[in-house]
Amino acid sequence: TVAVVLFTSDLRLHDHPPLHAALRAADEVVPLFVLDPGIHAAGFDAPNRRAFLADCLRDLDASLRRRGGRLVVRAGPVAGEVCAVAAECGAAEVHMAAGVTAYAHRREERLRERLGDGGVALRVHDTVVTAVAPGAVTPSGSDHFAVFTPYFRRWDRERLRKPLPAPRAVRVPDGVRGRPVPERADVSGTSPGVPPGGEKAGRDRFSRWLGDGLSRYEDLHDDLAGDATSRLSPYLHFGALSPVELVHRARGHGGPGGDAFVRQLCWRDFHHQVLAARPEASAGDYRTRHDHWRGEEDAADDIAAWREGRTGYPVVDAAMRQLRHEGWMHNRARLLVASFLTKTLYVDWRIGARHFLDLLVDGDVVNNQLNWQWVAGTGTDTRPHRVLNPLVQAKRFDPEGAYVRRWVPELADVDGRAVHEPWRLPEDRRAGLGYPAPLIDLADGLARFKHARGRD
Ligand code: FAD
Repeated sequence: TVAVVLFTSDLRLHDHPPLHAALRAADEVVPLFVLDPGIHAAGFDAPNRRAFLADCLRDLDASLRRRGGRLVVRAGPVAGEVCAVAAECGAAEVHMAAGVTAYAHRREERLRERLGDGGVALRVHDTVVTAVAPGAVTPSGSDHFAVFTPYFRRWDRERLRKPLPAPRAVRVPDGVRGRPVPERADVSGTSPGVPPGGEKAGRDRFSRWLGDGLSRYEDLHDDLAGDATSRLSPYLHFGALSPVELVHRARGHGGPGGDAFVRQLCWRDFHHQVLAARPEASAGDYRTRHDHWRGEEDAADDIAAWREGRTGYPVVDAAMRQLRHEGWMHNRARLLVASFLTKTLYVDWRIGARHFLDLLVDGDVVNNQLNWQWVAGTGTDTRPHRVLNPLVQAKRFDPEGAYVRRWVPELADVDGRAVHEPWRLPEDRRAGLGYPAPLIDLADGLARFKHARGRD
C-alpha cells in the first residue's frame, strides 16, 4: 500500500506525527511538498522567505535520501497536485497536519472534497505548528484567551505529548514525477544576511544555543547589542523545528533561562489560538478603535524614512536597517519601531506590518499581525497607551550604543551613549556626520497621538 504525506509548515523529519502515522499505515510513502501559487497570490510570498524555504526543502530532501527516500516537489494549486500524485502512485490515504489559519482551513476543505471524489482518504493529524493546539485550553465562557498572562498560566500546566524520533527509513514508490527541488541561488532580491534554512541548521543552532545561550537568556534577552536570543523564529515559522520538542528540551535544561524561553514560545501559541478562533483578527482591527491613522497619502515621507532607517532616531534606524540586511530583527527592536510608527508617527499599523512581512524570514500572518496589533492597541489586548519612548528604550536596552554603531555607520565614531542623541553634538561635528535630524519631536508626536485617541 502507498500513502502520501503532505508537508506544509512542518519541514522536518523529527517529531512529525503525520509522517510517522503514514509509515505505520503503508509500505511506501510519498513525501510531498507543493509550491502553491495561492501563497503568492495572497501576497504572503517574499524573497527572504522563499530563499529560506528553498534551503528547508533541500535539507528535507537530503535527509529523506539518507533514509532511502526523496522529497517530491510539485507546483500548482495544492488540491489538484495532491490528487494527481495520489493517482500516480495509487495511494489510498493522504496524511497531513492540521493548519491553524483560515487559508490552511480552506486548503484542507478543498483537499477533503477533491480526494473524496477519487476515493482517497484524507487523514488530518493534530496541528504541529504549536506546542498546545489552539482551542485545547480555553477560559470559561469563551473559545479563546484574549490576554496573554492567564493563557500562559493554563498553557504551562498542559501535558505535552512526547516528541517522536525521525524515521530510520522511508521507501518511496517509483514513477512519481517531481520537479527539481528549488535552490536559494534561484531567488533574487534577498537580504544578504538571511541565515541558512533547514532542519539540520535549526537543530544545530538550537543545540548550540541550549549549551551557551539559554543560561544567559533571562538576563540578556532584551539587550539589543548582546543579541542573546535564540534566533530560532525562522526555523519555527517553517516547522524545521518542533515547538513540542523545544519546550521539552528547554524545560529539561531547567533554570530561569529555560522558563523565560518557554514563556516566549507560549506567545506563539497564544497568537495562534486567537487567530484560530477569530480568523478576521489578522486582516484588520480585532475591535474597532475609531483610529484615524495616517496612511500613504498623508504620511508618505515619514513612512519612507521609517522603512529606510533614516528617521533621525538612531535606535529606530539601526533596527530598520538590521531588518533590511538580515530579514530579522530583535524583539525589543520590533516593539520599539512598531511603537514609533504607530504612536509617534501615528501611521496605520497595517503599513508597518506589510513592510515587516516583505522582509522578515520568520514573517507570518499570525505572529506579525497580532504583535503589531498588540503594540498598536487594536488587538485583543487593547491597552492603547503602550507607548515606548525610543530614547528611553535606547538608553535602557543599548546602554553603550553598540547596537546603533553596528547598524548605522554614519554614527560609528560617536562614543558611548551620546550616539543615541546625535542632535546634542556640537553643530560642526553633527554637520559632518551625514546623519539626518530627527523627523519629528517626540513630545509633538505623542501629543498628536493622545489628541487623536481623545477624539474616540
Ligand atoms: P527568542 O527570544 O529566542 O524566543 C523564542 C521563540 O519564541 C521565537 O523564536 C518565537 O517563535 C517565539 N516568540 C518570542 N516572542 C514572541 C512574540 N512576541 N510573539 C510570538 N512568538 C514569539 N515573530 C515571528 O515569528 N514572526 C513574525 O512575523 C513576528 N512579527 C513581529 C512583529 C512585531 C511588531 C513584534 C513586536 C514581534 C513580532 N514577532 C514575530 C515576535 C518576536 O519578535 C520574534 O518571534 C522574535 O524576535 C524572534 O527572535 P528569536 O527567535 O531570537 O526569539
